[in-house]
Parts: sequence; structure tokens; C-alpha cells
Amino acid sequence: VIDIGQPEHSVVTTCAYCGVGCSFKAEMRGEEVVRMVPWKDGKANRGHSCVKGRFAWGYTNHKDRILNPMIRENITDPWQEVTWEEAFAHVAKEFKRIQFQYGRGAVGGITSSRCTNEETFLVQKLVRAGFGNNNVDTCARVCHSPTGYGLGKAFGTSAGTQDFDSVEHTDVVILIGANPTDGHPVFASRLKKRLREGAKLIVIDPRRIDMVKTPHIQASHHLPLRPGTNVAVLTALAHVIVTEGIFDEAFIRERCDWSEFEDWASFVSDPAHSPEATEAYTGVPAAELRGAARLYARGGNGAIYYGLGVTEHSQGSTTVMAIANLAMATGNLGKPGVGVNPLRGQNNVQGACDMGSFPHELPGYRHISGEETRDIFEKLWGVELNSEPGLRIPNMLDAAVEGTFRGIYIQGEDILQSDPDTHHVQAGLAAMECVVVHDLFLNETANYAHVFLPGSTFLEKDGTFTNAERRINRVRKVMTPKNGLGDWEVTLGIAEAMGLGWDYSHPSQIMDEIAATTPSFTNVSYDLLEKMGSVQWPCNEKAPEGTPVMHLGGFARGKGKFIRTEYVATDERTGPRFPLLLTTGRILSQYNVGAQTRRTENVAWHAEDLLEIHPHDAEQRGIHDGDFVKLASRSGETSLRAKLTERVSPGVVYTTFHHPGTQANVITTDFTDWATNCPEYKVTAVQVSPSNGP
Ligand code: SF4
Repeated sequence: VIDIGQPEHSVVTTCAYCGVGCSFKAEMRGEEVVRMVPWKDGKANRGHSCVKGRFAWGYTNHKDRILNPMIRENITDPWQEVTWEEAFAHVAKEFKRIQFQYGRGAVGGITSSRCTNEETFLVQKLVRAGFGNNNVDTCARVCHSPTGYGLGKAFGTSAGTQDFDSVEHTDVVILIGANPTDGHPVFASRLKKRLREGAKLIVIDPRRIDMVKTPHIQASHHLPLRPGTNVAVLTALAHVIVTEGIFDEAFIRERCDWSEFEDWASFVSDPAHSPEATEAYTGVPAAELRGAARLYARGGNGAIYYGLGVTEHSQGSTTVMAIANLAMATGNLGKPGVGVNPLRGQNNVQGACDMGSFPHELPGYRHISGEETRDIFEKLWGVELNSEPGLRIPNMLDAAVEGTFRGIYIQGEDILQSDPDTHHVQAGLAAMECVVVHDLFLNETANYAHVFLPGSTFLEKDGTFTNAERRINRVRKVMTPKNGLGDWEVTLGIAEAMGLGWDYSHPSQIMDEIAATTPSFTNVSYDLLEKMGSVQWPCNEKAPEGTPVMHLGGFARGKGKFIRTEYVATDERTGPRFPLLLTTGRILSQYNVGAQTRRTENVAWHAEDLLEIHPHDAEQRGIHDGDFVKLASRSGETSLRAKLTERVSPGVVYTTFHHPGTQANVITTDFTDWATNCPEYKVTAVQVSPSNGP
């Protein structure tokens, strides 16, 4: 039910779906939401929204929500409801027992990009100060961890360089591996407006996404590359820019290390990297590559926007660095209208990374081995921190199978559905002695849980989310948590049961602690957020009211760093048994694995995930539109319905992953990004054949 009468009061808060971070006025009648109204003063959305944010909040009242903590001895036993105190005592006792028996490193935690900055900060604090190790990771591991690595190396900080307003000053947009119409709809509208005003567009995507041709918009170039060849395509663009001398020498001499540029330039100038040499394996006509490179280099302000089609590859981090190289070579940084802009998939993936939920980094992207940084936290927390990086999610699962990792606290993340190689995730979880799932619903991972701690929705919590443009938005409690506690209070409860002596009575105090320990957040406080509405980090003594555009006078690391980005073909190869390449994406009305959106009215709009296949490939296999097909890879197989379309090229198939029945991650491989272990979700060799259905 969306409209239940006239509102009595309203509360301004932030959407909990994508990384645009739209502000809404929740109009309330008592404890019931009457409607969600896009807030005209929201700096990320300026009164706009998409269907998800406006209508897909109904899961708060869904009957599937679990409202009481539960425990069980074995995963085959029935659940038993317990009090919060009993649940906290049980978790503390089990984690302490495991550490006594197997060692300090036998437990860890996973934070969520769905949770607030304050909640994420507390989970990493629990692992570091309470468990005494650095076995903390985040679901960004499977999406934007390569962004963290690549932008950190090139510019010295891991964040998009621009604000959304910047697009209004853009003359040329490169959109690579992103489909904002479905994934980031409100930003897509701003981008389309700019394109209708005359800005040019280059789309680099295996699929003919909506942006390639939509009313009043026609991309100047669509480069329909073979999945897995991003680095080769970007290097070919760089080859043209360097060999034709259309780079920005003044910018490079002033802002980068000239000798590093010369080294990179000699690398990309190699004839093996020319458009003509790469055409055969990228599938992109050389003339299109040359045209796109000239347009980006000479067309005025050039901005690059990218998504998971860049990061979820075995060369995800290399691709991010290749993008950074292009922007530096053309001088497209450090002013409005340009930049390198990751479109973050989840509401707080930027914040989850900022808050130190990586096993090697403390909040603010500072390496755990740094004594000075550790000292700040040790003094405040009264503990000695472990200086060794901890385990990433895939390493935790490996260690569980090997018998050295035995307990995990998972906040707001369904790793059995969202992580690659489902069978391995199952084996890892099944091997553990205490799996604690803290979530709204009994998700797939909870099948392997010994403790279930009910979570709260965004409507029930106070805190902040940080969107894709580094904007810290307030999340305000609209209603009392139906489960009795906010998520930060649940982590606090575990910490208290472990005897850690934490003392917080409101999330604002956690933000004060973040500000006291993290240089890019020094000036951030709830008072400032009330005054300003929102602020973009860095927000500190140098930028008291935040930073809309980064790297204005110099890069965070000093000089921008050019890095050679050698193309290495993925180990996932097509062959006679698996001749097609599968890639994946999203649709507008659903969100990620659909845990929230499938439990709202949207379910009627999109009943199932479909397999897009080119008519030529379908005809060869005797497949008709709407037929059930078997989708098989070296990892596994599943069944779904076919949709014949020329949006995909011959040889490429595509599906979404919003429904558990699709089991997309049974199909995907266990190949990962070389630097960050981000899974290679976007390239899987598959075969498609007729089927009678699931
Ligand atoms: Fe805005 Fe994204 Fe929420 Fe849609 S899903 S309302 S674009 S934040």
C-alpha cells in the first residue's frame, strides 16, 4: 500500500538503493509512511527520484522480516527465539571460545554497503579492537574494490573526482561499463539532459544500452567490445592520443611526472597497441576507436563515467588505472566538467570503503602497517592493533575450508547469493562453527547461520550514507525499529558482551569519532550536516564546507601517476563446448539480488531474469523468443527464459541477477581481479541450449 491518507509530519532522509543518494521527505501518519516525496533541496537529486526510491520501501513492513534474535546449535536444528541479551552473550561466548581454541585470527567480520557509515565503522572497530585482527572486509570486494586500488595508485585517493553538477560543464562523455538508465536513473536523467543540450557521447559496452540511441540522443561512437577486452580498448585510445600528439603537454608537465608520462607514452605507442592491431580481438572497428580517441582528446571538457563493467574483471584494477591515464593525458582532471567518475552501485559503497572495512586499511584509506595511523586509534581505543593485513572474504572462505577460520559476523550482506563460486561459499560457511547473520530477512546465507540477529531498515535508523560523489547525506530515523534496536546498537551489544566497554548513546558520537581519527572527515559532524544539508569529503580545515571537485591544484598523492597497463586476456576462454560469452547487469525496477525490491510492489513489474541472446545465435540453436533455455558454463548450469534481441552482439549473451532462482553465480567463474580479488562476473564462457524449464 503506497498511499494511506494525509500525512501528519515528515522526515528528510536518504534513499537506501543506488549510489546516487537521493534525498526524500518521508511523509508520515504516526509510524506509517504515507508516501516518499523526492526532496527538492536534496543536492544529489534536486527533487527527482526513480521508481525504486519512490515506491520500493514497502519491504520495511514485509511479513518475511525477522524481528526477534534466534540461535541454534546446528544448522539443521530449528531456530529458537532468544532475547537480545541472550543472543549477544551467545555470540561473545562462541567467538571467544573459537579464538581460544583456534587462535586470534579464526574469526572475522563482513560489513555492508547497505549500512550507514557509523554502523560500518563500528563493525571494523569490533574486528580490530575486539577480535584483535584485521579480518574485516566489505561487499565492495565484489564490486568497486578495483576502483579503490586503481584510483589510489593514480591519484592518491580512492574516490570519484567530480560532483554530479559537474556534468553540466561536460562536452564529451565516455560511458564505459555502466548503464545509468537502469543502474543510476536520476544521474542518467542529468546526463541525458546535457547530451540533449549538445554534449557528445562515446559508449564503450558490449551491449547496445539505451544511451546508445534514445529519443533525441545518439551516441557519436558505440564501441561494442568483446567482454574482457577493456584494457586493450583503452590502450588503443591512448595509442591514438599519444601517436597523433593530441595529449595535453602543459597539464602533464605541471601536474604529473613527465618521465613517467614518457615511459607510459612509449608503451602505448607500440604498434601492437594500435586500433588496427587490436580490432581483431576487441571486436571494435579501428576507425571507431580512432574517432572516439580524437573526440575525447579534442572535444573540450571530457568526463569518464564507469560502472561494474569496468571493475568486475580479472583486470578490473588495470582498467581503472587505464582510465586514469587517459584523463591525465588529456588534462581532463581538476576542474568542473571532466574527471574520472565511478558510478557506485550501492547506496553506501563509497562510505563502506571510506570507513576502513578493508583488511589492509584503517578508515581514510591508511594502511594498517602505518605506525602513526595505528597510534591514533590505539590511543583512542585503548588497545594495541595488529599491524598485519587480515583476510579478504574469499580468503576467509578458503581458510574455513582448510580449518583455520571458524567464526564470522556478517552484517547486511548475503554472501551466498552475491559472491562468486556458490559451491565454495557454501563449503566455507558449512565448515564454520559460528556464523552470525545480521539482516532483515532469513537470506540464503542464513541457511548456514547459527545466530540470526534481526536488522533494521533505512527508515528505522539514524546515521549517514556517502554517495558516488563523496556526498555525506543524513539518514534520519523515520519510525521506531520494528526489531527493537538499530544496527549500530546490535554491534554495540556484541562489543559490550565481549567486555569492550564502548560508550555510545547516539550515532552522532560515532561520527565524532570518525572525524577525530580520519583526516578527510575532520570537520564532519551532525551539526554541520544539519546546517549544510550534506557535505562532500574531504571536509576538513582546508575545506571546511567540503570539496565538490577534487584535485584542483594538485593530486592527493602530489603528482598524478601514469602506469603501464598491459592487456592480459582473461583465463576464461570460449571453445567448442562453451562458445558464447555471458555478461550481466541490472534493470531499473529491481536492485541487486532483489532482497528488498522483490518484497515490494515492484515484483509485478519484473517477474524473472531473462537471457538476452542475438537472433542469429538463437536460430542456430533452435531457440525462440520466450523459450526456456539451459545456460551452462564450466562452473554449473541454470535455466531461464530467452529474450531475442539485437542489443547484444552475436557471440554475447546477457542476463540480470535479481532473482535467487536464476542462480547467476552458479554459472560465473572463480577468476578474480589480480589486485583485489574482485570477481570476474562480467565474463563467463557459456553454452545455451533449449530446455523444458527449471
Ligand atoms: Fe535515487 Fe538511486 Fe534511490 Fe533511484 S535508487 S531514488 S536514483 S538513490
